[in-house]
Amino acid sequence: MFYNCKDTAVFSYNNHAALLYFKYFFRIYMHIIKASDDLSNYLNSIRTDNPKVTIGFVPTMGALHAGHASLVEASITKSDITVCSIFVNPTQFGEMADLEKYPKPIEKDIDLLIKHGCDVLFLPKYEDVYPKEYVQQEFDLMGIDHKIEGASRPGHFQGVCNVLYRFFKIVAPDEAYFGQKDFQQTVVANRLAALIDSPPKIVIVPIKRELSGLAMSSRNIRLSDKGRNNAAFIYKALTDLVSDLNEMSLVDALKKAKQFIEAQKGARIDYFVAVDIETLEEITSLDECDSAALLTVIEYEGVRLLDNIILKPRE
Ligand code: AMP
Repeated sequence: MFYNCKDTAVFSYNNHAALLYFKYFFRIYMHIIKASDDLSNYLNSIRTDNPKVTIGFVPTMGALHAGHASLVEASITKSDITVCSIFVNPTQFGEMADLEKYPKPIEKDIDLLIKHGCDVLFLPKYEDVYPKEYVQQEFDLMGIDHKIEGASRPGHFQGVCNVLYRFFKIVAPDEAYFGQKDFQQTVVANRLAALIDSPPKIVIVPIKRELSGLAMSSRNIRLSDKGRNNAAFIYKALTDLVSDLNEMSLVDALKKAKQFIEAQKGARIDYFVAVDIETLEEITSLDECDSAALLTVIEYEGVRLLDNIILKPRE
């Protein structure tokens, strides 16, 4: 395997048949582009030669695992070209310490992306995403940025929107892929798409889980081996609650699930709430809304573990 890891994009294909040949028959080449102008120019040149080309975009913060890979695979299945970004976005972190300790196993990430057939890795520096003249914006998220996850992380979802806004400008993707795992982020991305010009279609990919049922996450490596096995209780609580709804009210099922979690040694519930998928307002009965999900964060061995399950799908 080989890959191009220059500071700027120096490759240009005059003949895109050659690009497609590589892409579909060898799947071994991935461009790594660091400057946003280079990425835009490169993608625009492809669009000029091939106006029908579709571009799928997968934004990530790196430390990639099979959950991220499932987004890349979804994009590859649907789009002609898949662009994945790795950028640990400072504007969505409240504490600098969290930002600094975010893992950055870049060589491993590059291997994973090549193995899964990603076409372009965008690996920008801060100034590439936020040039000097860029002013951070305040998007009207209709209050969803202050609820649930947003309540404990002020400014987080505005930071997410700013980075997505910039990425959507630079990449101009047809589709952008997000994991259901960060449920509130998918709601926020859809709201952002409704606010901006020429948004991509937001595609939501189901949660990839470990064999035990634990949702895959870059944070799972911070659990002990034993803790990683035990943490399967979170998914068990979610799935048991769904079956309990056949015989008890939502309020009773929530109470039972919370008692089960609190009985796990070392587990602390940050939140465990049933919400209306459209508004993220908390609900006490499924009859109150057209679609509902259960969102949770459990702190276990000092790690915040996010998970969720759909209680009532969108029609
Ligand atoms: P992150 O690098 O944590 O910002 O995640 C980048 C994207 O990968 C987000 O859209 C996440 O929701 C998605 N993702 C992370 N973990 C999983 C998972 N276990 N299954 C599906 N998607 C995931």
